[in-house]
Amino acid sequence: MNQYISDKMKKIEPYVPNEAHYKIKLDANESSIPVSSAIRQEIAQAICENLLNRYPDPLSTEICRNFAELYHVKPEQVVAGCGSDELINVIISFFLEEKDKILCFSPDFAMYGFYAQVHGNRCVTIQKGEDMVLTPQMIIENAKREKPKMILFSNPCNPTGIGLMKEEVLEVLQNVECLVVVDEAYMDFWNQSVLDEIENYDNLIVLRTCSKAFSMAGLRLGFAVAKKELIDEIKKAKSPYNVNILTQIAAPIIFAHAREVRTGVVAIIENRKYVYNKLKEFAKDKEGFRIYKSGTNFLYFKCSHADEIFEELKKSDIIIRHFNNGYLRISIGTQQEMDFVLEKLIAAYERLN
Ligand SMILES: *Cc1c(COP(=O)(O)O)cnc(C)c1O
Repeated sequence: MNQYISDKMKKIEPYVPNEAHYKIKLDANESSIPVSSAIRQEIAQAICENLLNRYPDPLSTEICRNFAELYHVKPEQVVAGCGSDELINVIISFFLEEKDKILCFSPDFAMYGFYAQVHGNRCVTIQKGEDMVLTPQMIIENAKREKPKMILFSNPCNPTGIGLMKEEVLEVLQNVECLVVVDEAYMDFWNQSVLDEIENYDNLIVLRTCSKAFSMAGLRLGFAVAKKELIDEIKKAKSPYNVNILTQIAAPIIFAHAREVRTGVVAIIENRKYVYNKLKEFAKDKEGFRIYKSGTNFLYFKCSHADEIFEELKKSDIIIRHFNNGYLRISIGTQQEMDFVLEKLIAAYERLN
């Protein structure tokens, strides 16, 4: 069998999502707010009326029009993907030649490095400092030295929750000579998007997803937004029927209820602030506990005995995300869930430290 497996396949570490079921699931940054039963009824009705035997619209025209309206861009500046994950893959594989360099930062979204590796690109990863702040200077100086073909980062960042201000991203765009892909997966929870600058830059691609703020992780829908010329290239490169018919039926119905979604986002932000304040207060006199500011629907912190705390929470049927070197990330769940998690987390920390 071995002779059929390529060297690049052998080098890939499998991504292992949590298979086990936990009652409180705070590891993947999905929305804690389900799509309402009224909206789901509407979707069910619409799906019943579709015959399903034909391929879906290859360009997801209605979905792109909805997105354009919602975010005040032009439909021709938008392409839809099977999650923004698919678009990251397409962008890396088609805008770069093998061995071309990508500039990334760490910690950041792990899939960037994964796709770079799959496509045989060289990924230069710059380590962030203990404050986890990414500055325009860091990006520009490293770009000047490394001369990458592409710079790719999430803003605000997953997993740190920290973001660059809009003006800082524009500073980067003006001072580098390569493509800049800004992954705004969590920008619905913050207000520093560069979407309204799309027309001003030839080297900007913005990624968005419906998996986080829009409660559609199960539907797999994401977007790339850029000048029409760049979007036309991505349309050529993506697989033809990448967004399935069920998603193309459901998403416009959910988009039609965008105001309801906004209300949910506001509630999640309030809840994040509540949890942040509690942990900040708890961390005040503790060397071993550091919590980071967040513009997202999750919180990132460093604490001593992180591994044991992670295991301890699992025993209370809570799953969060665990990173190397003592860092943990908690997605914001419901208020009730978060009160329970805070209690268990603080108890575990106090017992172990
Ligand atoms: C969740 C996430 C994505 C993936 O979104 P999908 O649309 O579900 O594929 C992309 N980038 C970042 C930074 C994310 O956290």
